Amino acid sequence: MKVLKFGGTSVANPENINKVKSILNNQNNNKIAVVVSAFGGVTDLLLKASRLASEQDVGYTKSIKEIEDRHISAIRELIPVKSQSAALSKVKSELNILETLLEGAFLIGELTPKLSDKIVSYGELLSSFIISEFLRSEGLDVAFKDSRELIKTDNNFGRANVDFKITNANCKEFFSSNKNQITILPGFVAYSKNGDLTTLGRGGSDYTAAIIAAAVDAEILEIWTDVSGMYTANPKLVKQAKCVANISYQEAMELSHFGAKVLYPPTIQPILGKEIPIAIKNTFDPEKPGTLIAKNTNGNGKTVRGISHVGNISLLSLEGPGMIGIPGISKRFFETLSVKNISIVLITQASSEHSICVGIADEDVDLAAEAVNETFEFEISTKKIKPVIVEKDLTIVALVGDNMKSHQGLSGKMFSTLGKNNVNIRAIAQGASERNISAVIKKEDVKKALNSLHETFFEENIKQLNLFVMGVGNVGSKFLQQIRQQKKYLKEELKLNVRVIGISNSRKMAFDESGVSLKDWENTLEQGEPADKEAFYDRIISLNYRNSIFVDNTANAEVSKSYSSYLKNSISVVTCNKIASSSDYAYYKELKQLAKQYNAPYLFETNVGAGLPILDTLKHLIASGDKIRKIQAVLSGSLNFVFNTFDDSTTFHDVVKQAQEQGYTEPDPTIDLSGVDVMRKILILARESGYQLNIDDIENEAFLPKESLETDSNEAFFESLKKYEADFQKLYKDAADSDCKLKYVAQFEDGKAKVGLQQIPKGHDFYNLEGSDNIVLFFTDRYVNQPLIIKGAGAGADVTASGIFADIVRIGNF
Ligand code: ADP
Ligand code: ASP
Ligand code: MG
Repeated sequence: MKVLKFGGTSVANPENINKVKSILNNQNNNKIAVVVSAFGGVTDLLLKASRLASEQDVGYTKSIKEIEDRHISAIRELIPVKSQSAALSKVKSELNILETLLEGAFLIGELTPKLSDKIVSYGELLSSFIISEFLRSEGLDVAFKDSRELIKTDNNFGRANVDFKITNANCKEFFSSNKNQITILPGFVAYSKNGDLTTLGRGGSDYTAAIIAAAVDAEILEIWTDVSGMYTANPKLVKQAKCVANISYQEAMELSHFGAKVLYPPTIQPILGKEIPIAIKNTFDPEKPGTLIAKNTNGNGKTVRGISHVGNISLLSLEGPGMIGIPGISKRFFETLSVKNISIVLITQASSEHSICVGIADEDVDLAAEAVNETFEFEISTKKIKPVIVEKDLTIVALVGDNMKSHQGLSGKMFSTLGKNNVNIRAIAQGASERNISAVIKKEDVKKALNSLHETFFEENIKQLNLFVMGVGNVGSKFLQQIRQQKKYLKEELKLNVRVIGISNSRKMAFDESGVSLKDWENTLEQGEPADKEAFYDRIISLNYRNSIFVDNTANAEVSKSYSSYLKNSISVVTCNKIASSSDYAYYKELKQLAKQYNAPYLFETNVGAGLPILDTLKHLIASGDKIRKIQAVLSGSLNFVFNTFDDSTTFHDVVKQAQEQGYTEPDPTIDLSGVDVMRKILILARESGYQLNIDDIENEAFLPKESLETDSNEAFFESLKKYEADFQKLYKDAADSDCKLKYVAQFEDGKAKVGLQQIPKGHDFYNLEGSDNIVLFFTDRYVNQPLIIKGAGAGADVTASGIFADIVRIGNF
């Protein structure tokens, strides 16, 4: 004999019930017991109606109406007209009783647990009746059996305890004499030994099926539901979760205890001794193999088999100096909870002898706190013990696997994964069986925690990076284009799944949690909301994604001030904006320190030399123990372009204009021409070399006349250049006469930095620098006479974008 159970979604409507029929049609001639849940959502509706009625809110009649409509229309659709009236009158009379019960609750303004069970039982009683009538009308050999007559419990309404002796005997007797091939039974409901209606707890239809399967020694118990088996994590929260083909009873039990709702926790208990296999199958995809829960599974050598979570948890802790060395405190604590029938979901490892801390359901915590305070009233009044501390709205996440005990380092990996993603752990517990490790976290961190743990333990090192890109102009748009083009490569070769979740320019911003389409981002942005830097930040925080990266492609000072807030939330920052790293030393240092503290890299490779790997090289030199002695560099693509193009056949004004038009200068060309941009760059190089320097410490031998530097508009600036043409020509001629070229050079030596125009003689490393190229010479303890040279294009949107791209990849490998 087989036992099949169909859950709420599987029988939610006539269309789904037809799917159930075809699954039953495909069974061989074996005898089968079919346990059904209430139509999906009906149990919730019944509970809502009860609550409203007991609060004397007439709104309960709306819920009744909905319940009525669903059942009546199911009969009309499923059962042929000639046999409809009998079914309709039976269901209507049941619904009348239900209405009377709710009316009673409404009039008295009260709902006893006993009445609640009676009301909620109608979900299963009605669904099982309608389904059995339908199947019979379709010609299946069906009997209906009321499981209340088989399953006997105590009077613990809402979650009654089964008397297995009587129940097993009842089941055996019924199924040995019943001749029909299929028996339909309502799940969830039972009778107490004195004849009151009881229920087996939310999700209890699974349990009904397991009780019957164990009693009749079924060959298999099949749980038919709306997912294709037990997954490595709840597939509704973790998209990448995979179905687990085989799992042991103990593993399944741990997973369901910690919230894998696909199986009601007590389900395995009656099965365990009998070793009846349990299959979890999908009603909507019956060909899928699903999950087999059985005695021994090899787990394919995997240690962690699943991650589950259970929400609405509170921590209740009792502590105080009076607890040390006094026997019996724990006993009194746990007895108090047990007397109040409060179940403990988790007991955490006490950090010291004078505290006990347990995780219990939010709904029980007030009662629990009151009871414990009462028990320890004397100790509390004499200040030996503090009143209990309650922390609500928490969630437990648990890693589960039989083989976890023989592996070291799993908890380290778990906690470092959570830590890296800024998930604060409130408490930790490890089952004595070492089959699970659980952590208590804040409920708002659940999705992030599950996804990052899943990534660590199941996704063969594919790492998802979630990008938020501010600034989609020249550089930003090239960057998005590069991401789009390299998406496949990143995934296949570097195991990085890069998604852009948010974008913004100065006018608009847009978000797409499934990833902004990089083909069509302009449109998405156009249709977005008005841009707002703070709202952008708030949104990123509320999305709370793991591996989040804020990418700043602007040159905006306000944006650079927000980096510290991002880093404090473990959101990495990648920027081509130089302002933060060249601002006050204290802010630069703070950002570096926050990056370390919150495990969120702060990278700005493109601040110096665009895409050239200058800062990265410097970092590696220092990491390997080298020391920077001197840096000489040409770091301004724009100034280099200007002095490579300027000669006696042109005018300085025209060359600078051309540089601006070709995008080689900052929007305000004085930033480049005054040398400020180069000062910022040498400052960043010096700081990254380990020196504490500020911009004011840098000597700047300006070559522009004071008047040009002090202009207040671009027009005025260009006008003034014309006025001083003769001076510029003289600079050129003096250099040419000594066979030299003009280069704007930055230098750092003996802890001091300076920038300025220099005449560079033939043969010098800088002499042949073309176009907008940059060059950096590092003289170090190891590169004493022959410097380490990095040279190449140091400006332009494409190379800058590729530098940002490289920083993203660095974070991916972090
Ligand atoms: P039914 O009504 O069929 O009893 P449930 O809603 O009780 O179905 O259980 C199925 C649901 O369990 C799935 O839709 C899924 O959202 C949830 N679930 C939670 N954890 C897991 C998991 N690890 N594997 C599969 N499903 C899970
Ligand atoms: N209908 C009940 C519930 O929703 C029992 C079940 O479906 O398993 O909790
Ligand atoms: Mg269920």
